[in-house]
Amino acid sequence: MPKVYNWHIGREMDYPYEESRPEKQVAWVFDINKCIECQTCTVACKTTWTSGKGQESMFWNNVETKPYGGYPTGWDLSILPKLGEQVWNANNVYEGKTVFESAPQGEKVNGYLPTDEDYAHVNLGEDECTQVIEKGAFFQGIHNAWMFYLARICNHCTYPACLAACPRKAIYKRKEDGIVLVDQTRCRGYRECVKACPYKKVFFNMVTRTSEKCIACFPLIEKGEQPRCVQTCIGKIRLMGFLNPPEKIRRDNPLDFLIYYKKIALPLYPQFGLEPNVYYIPPVHVPREFLYQMFGPTVDEAIETYRNAHQDRELLGALLLFTSTQKIIDSFRVKGDYVYGYNEKGDEVVKVPFTEPLYIRPYYDNKEKVYRHTIT
Ligand code: SF4
Ligand code: SF4
Repeated sequence: MPKVYNWHIGREMDYPYEESRPEKQVAWVFDINKCIECQTCTVACKTTWTSGKGQESMFWNNVETKPYGGYPTGWDLSILPKLGEQVWNANNVYEGKTVFESAPQGEKVNGYLPTDEDYAHVNLGEDECTQVIEKGAFFQGIHNAWMFYLARICNHCTYPACLAACPRKAIYKRKEDGIVLVDQTRCRGYRECVKACPYKKVFFNMVTRTSEKCIACFPLIEKGEQPRCVQTCIGKIRLMGFLNPPEKIRRDNPLDFLIYYKKIALPLYPQFGLEPNVYYIPPVHVPREFLYQMFGPTVDEAIETYRNAHQDRELLGALLLFTSTQKIIDSFRVKGDYVYGYNEKGDEVVKVPFTEPLYIRPYYDNKEKVYRHTIT
């Protein structure tokens, strides 16, 4: 198998195809600390793309409660043990095996096929905490009982396992933006991709008998707009843009800045070996052992940077861009009390104040002779 370089695990690894990075890579940052699991993103995606026959249990975007939730049921608990011991050395190099390196003899990827039952309970474990919470308990800075919401879409991986496993070569990664798509005319529904994707983000359509997956809302991206799940996010946890290849990174690109410069956002289960392109700002209140397994060995640094963001105007500015505009932000700049976002042509697409102005309306409107507030 060819050797490719995976910067998430700090080393070369086996992959069935030669390394071939796109000119630029579509990427997302999700701030877990802000997600309220309103599922607006899920509904926006479902009503846009998967409301047809055979797509009933297909959720290209889902939001699950960790530690107990997961869709399909137990997706990560099922794949993690298959990798064996997952150790990182002192230089943050992964010394365990990826899903490619641990593949059984004769197979390209170490995977499993979920059962129909696994797709039957999309919100299993939703809002379940690790402990019962006392009546009247309130936040005191340390959580003994915890949970968090994990929003998930296809990661449009740099080394997609779905693509690697497809015997028909029906899955391809676009050179111009790194979006991973299934060619519906080539797919014969063997489900090798469903079995191979460790994130379980390819779904089988029982009516068309083909595999389908998140298309990153490419018709919007081609118009310079962010995908539906980003545009509609109530918690403003999402930012989509393009990540440059490591040799071309730019500090004024918000994605490059957050991921490469500030290292505040981390890949989900980097040990799988896919170099996924959805990056997460880890939740600050969750036991670190859990987070190391989920986001790798640099969680402490990411959380420290996040906690101190209020002292770093440039970082705070980048964080204020989340879900601030429908347009894709190519570059950003902090000037005075505002952060500005610009498109690829350099035109301003958004201007966000560091402090939202506050206007308080008088409770009695003299002109209309009416009370504007409820008086109790
Ligand atoms: S819309 Fe945003 S806040 Fe709501 S569940 Fe989705 S990611 Fe979380
Ligand atoms: S997350 Fe899964 S479906 Fe998406 S590109 Fe990666 S391997 Fe393929």
